Amino acid sequence: MDNAVKQIKEIIEKNLPSEVEITSIELEGPEVAIYTKNPRSFFENENYVAKLAYELKKRVNVRSDKSLLINQEEAKKIVEGIVPQDAGIREIYFDEAFSEVVIEAMKPGLVIGKSGSTSKEIILKTGWVPNILRAPTSDSNTLRGIRHHLHKYSAERRKILQATAKHIYRELPEQLNNRGWIKLDALGGFREVGRSCVLIATANTKVMLDCGINVASNDDPYPYLDSLNFPLSELDAVIISHAHLDHSGFLPYLFKLGYRGPVYCTAPTRDLMTLLQFDSIDVLVKEGRTPPYSEADVKEMVKYCIPRDYREVTDIAPDMRLTLHNAAHILGSASVHLHIGEGAHNFVYSADMKYGFTRLFDNLDMHYPRLETLLIESTYGGRNDIHPLRQESEERIVKIIRETVLNKGNVLIPVFAVGRGQEIMLVLEDAYRRGMLEAKVYIDGMTKEASAIHTAYPEYLRNTVQRRVLQNDSPFTSQLFQVAPEASERAALLAEGGAIIVASSGMLTGGPSLRYFYQMAEDPKNCMIFVGYQGEGALGRKLQGGIKMLPVPAGNGRVKALNVNMRVETVEGFSGHSDRLQLMNYIRMLKPMPKRILVDHGEKETTIDFSRSVAMKFRINTTAPRNLDSVRLR
Ligand SMILES: [Zn+2]
Ligand SMILES: [Zn+2]
Repeated sequence: MDNAVKQIKEIIEKNLPSEVEITSIELEGPEVAIYTKNPRSFFENENYVAKLAYELKKRVNVRSDKSLLINQEEAKKIVEGIVPQDAGIREIYFDEAFSEVVIEAMKPGLVIGKSGSTSKEIILKTGWVPNILRAPTSDSNTLRGIRHHLHKYSAERRKILQATAKHIYRELPEQLNNRGWIKLDALGGFREVGRSCVLIATANTKVMLDCGINVASNDDPYPYLDSLNFPLSELDAVIISHAHLDHSGFLPYLFKLGYRGPVYCTAPTRDLMTLLQFDSIDVLVKEGRTPPYSEADVKEMVKYCIPRDYREVTDIAPDMRLTLHNAAHILGSASVHLHIGEGAHNFVYSADMKYGFTRLFDNLDMHYPRLETLLIESTYGGRNDIHPLRQESEERIVKIIRETVLNKGNVLIPVFAVGRGQEIMLVLEDAYRRGMLEAKVYIDGMTKEASAIHTAYPEYLRNTVQRRVLQNDSPFTSQLFQVAPEASERAALLAEGGAIIVASSGMLTGGPSLRYFYQMAEDPKNCMIFVGYQGEGALGRKLQGGIKMLPVPAGNGRVKALNVNMRVETVEGFSGHSDRLQLMNYIRMLKPMPKRILVDHGEKETTIDFSRSVAMKFRINTTAPRNLDSVRLR
């Protein structure tokens, strides 16, 4: 630690003149905080921070020395006076541990001001450095809960970040340092979809990529953490690619077991996975089952999250550097690039990714500075997994909905609350604006909440959607979308006919979509449309397969037979995953071409076949490891 810190301090001192009056330099996780008695000197020479960030290859946070901070009440009044009304401030509170004033506003740009002028004025007049957060366009309990939680524990968070920094910059023992082996352990999500979990290890460092559960499996849903032959305290970091439970659903359990290290992910991933984890606890409790972890474990996890932006290079261990890249799968979803051992090996974990058009996101990242091994998903890597063109899919879903509604039936669209939910909302909203859709669309709670979180991160959305959110014309809050009725009012709504219901969960494994299904299945006028992946063993998959009768709970522990008379349709093409052609094209277009490819996240036959086809087509060493296999990367 001492050496690295000394070096960082030297660079800072060399690049700053003495009038800056630095009172302390601290490492906060992978970032640097500089406390100064003269913040004005930083603003008069704008490029100090940029120059330092470039030299250090780190985020640099300038904070005022504690002696400059004025009384909070007074500071709040000054902030309110300086920031224009139009900014729409929702909340102002103070974070003493970081000398920050947190300002949540509808228009953060107006709190920053032209070239940062408003922010600077706040610092000069109050000493407090603004930490500006965007308010969602509609209220989100999850977001508010997380932001308040982080505030409440900010002193503890600062300690966590300092401890993390100590660990990142620790000195390595001489002998071990030079051996240079790297290996991958397959802990879950290999030759299957669900419970994704990978361990990357060197002689010095152990990093876990994803820690998911298989929501479609009741008897074996968890990754093979029991095969780890070291205590969790030796794990350097966990990296979460995206919020879906098959990638994040078991993470709180690590905290239950005592893991207390950093979790790297994008900010939207932190918020969305918290939402999904809380919901999964809720669903299990309602079904009378015991969740593997509690809300307290989730809250503990949130404290340890270190949000990273796309393409931001971050030191996470003495021999490992992390960069997250846009994977265009769901909000904040990332492919993970690891630069290992001074560049001795470069590893990319594609995670779930979409190489194709989506209404929500920009095209995924295809260029990496260096790349030796690629671990790629293969959900739709099978020979027959060729999806129709997006436009055809959109026309088809609108057509099915119109037919059903005309016939006084109701439509149920089971969706993953995060991802497909929003993509389908955009499709329906577009049809509505073109006059193709008049029916009312009911969105159940979780999808609505997830959509609200989308509006707090417009920078992660495609330009067209981003612009609408920024202009307070968010498609997610269109008048087309109604809040789903209370359970007691559902029957009346369905009896009327003509309702479109967008409900989670996407595979009918529990939650509102299942309850609607029970109520709608027997009426042949109704229609259910699947738009996402249906896992092996999930009810959704069985219904796609054409089962016509199934036993359902009838209360008091009794069971009755439910006849499935409703129309059941599948419209492919909305998937957040690439189909076979897109996966192949992704590999073809990837720069640079990897030397070796490993395949995961697909059903057994699919993974094996896809791996063989890739090997033949590209003449690259390609394999589909099994769970519990170890692969030597170097
Ligand atoms: Zn996913
Ligand atoms: Zn997945």
